[in-house]
Amino acid sequence: MFNETNSVAIEGINGKIIKTEADVSDGLPGFSMVGYLSSEVREARERVWISLKNAGFKIPPKKITINLSPADIRKDGTSYDLSIAVAVLAAIGILSDKYLKDSVIIGELSLDGRVKPVTGILSMVYTAYDKGFKYVIVPEGNKNEAMVVNGINIIPISEIADLPVILLYPDEYVIKNQSPVISFEDNSPIPDFSDVRGQSISKRAIETAVSGMHNILMIGPPGSGKSMLAKRIPGIMPIPDFDEKMEISKIYSVSGLLSDENPIIKRRPFRSPHHTVTQTALVGGGRYPKPGEITLANGGVLFLDEFPEFARQTIEVLRQPMEDGVINVSRVGGSYRYPARFQLVAAMNPCPCGFFPDRRKCTCPDRVVKRYLSKISQPILDRIDICTETTSLEYSEININNTNKNETTEEIRKRVIKTHKIQSERYKDEEFKFNAHLTPNKIKKYCKLSPDAEDLIKNVFESDTISSRAYHRILRVSRTLADMEEADIIDEKHVAEAISYRNNDKNLWR
Ligand SMILES: [Zn+2]
Repeated sequence: MFNETNSVAIEGINGKIIKTEADVSDGLPGFSMVGYLSSEVREARERVWISLKNAGFKIPPKKITINLSPADIRKDGTSYDLSIAVAVLAAIGILSDKYLKDSVIIGELSLDGRVKPVTGILSMVYTAYDKGFKYVIVPEGNKNEAMVVNGINIIPISEIADLPVILLYPDEYVIKNQSPVISFEDNSPIPDFSDVRGQSISKRAIETAVSGMHNILMIGPPGSGKSMLAKRIPGIMPIPDFDEKMEISKIYSVSGLLSDENPIIKRRPFRSPHHTVTQTALVGGGRYPKPGEITLANGGVLFLDEFPEFARQTIEVLRQPMEDGVINVSRVGGSYRYPARFQLVAAMNPCPCGFFPDRRKCTCPDRVVKRYLSKISQPILDRIDICTETTSLEYSEININNTNKNETTEEIRKRVIKTHKIQSERYKDEEFKFNAHLTPNKIKKYCKLSPDAEDLIKNVFESDTISSRAYHRILRVSRTLADMEEADIIDEKHVAEAISYRNNDKNLWR
């Protein structure tokens, strides 16, 4: 006697359909499992067996063999339990198999026969929908996350004992009113740029960075508002569209960071790992691979405060994802690919005390300053297009009688959206969307300079012996500054401003 069910394996943040085959034959009674299984999945044998018994199912003393295929995909986690249980019951003939080929079955079993929630439900249900299945059976505790996906019938289950009746009349158990339950809008307040007094130069640098999705480094003394500024950056980015929300939410789903109360991520992430973060926690991986901070920041901001305090090796692994927008995590039995298209916002003091080059306040010896700065390597600096200095506030800026109104996040975001639109129109046939991702070849194609602009950059190039990387960096930022003014041709003032963003780090590092 043979039967089979469908479930889903997670690879990276996406799912693949897995078939669970159960064969029941005469022979030495037993229960064996094959098919490239992690130890957790192998333990399913015990869980399923005891769970079925305690739920009152009578399993005849037969030889039961379970195979999870395809064989070349490694199966992790506990989400196959329910699918295995159904395959066994169907092979024995206790369950109707009428709807099994149209259904995906997901859930962990507890020994007393309850169905427990699992991580990654959003990705799994999306896979079931994408592959054209009609029903997906999910743990009751995961139903809100499952309902984020429209276009497939969701059937929640809390006890394995309910299986026979659910599989006889699945339509009776489908959750109705799927879509109105989940709200995709998020109206909770986010910190606003108008709270930040002064810092007009840094605000301009930040707007420029977000407008072209350039990475940015903020340097300044302690208390000059670097993290206050950083936290406000996701707010001036365009609100994520539905597809972006789904991608971000899938990442949080496979990381186990969605809950039934918050089944979808509605806004751009802001991740700020502490400088003691391990390499695995930053880029992802591990024995049971999980996305790292750079993937959790996908579509939003990765804020690294106290940048030189991070282990140098930890920072260096960011080079590839900063360029490609993805990270490949290798592990036994293959490698996973996670999205990692984040905007890097780094912040640092210019020296250990924080006041260099103000020698009235900074007493750090030169060699200490040098060693401190050298923790950030040239290849990393080359990947950060914009560098800005935050300054301590002037009296006029904190004076409560100062009635100058600061711009709100909403006002800035409107301009950013306009500049993003210009880029998405210009790059509609390219594989990238933003100026930050212009390669040298594409710079030639898309960065047209006025004669004055040409002269200025030529002068700088000749007098200053800048590297070709620095040259490209200036042109990318110039392109963004021109786009912010809806100018087609890059002018002298755009180049001059772009050079100023480079001078900040050049002065410190040379
Ligand atoms: Zn100092």
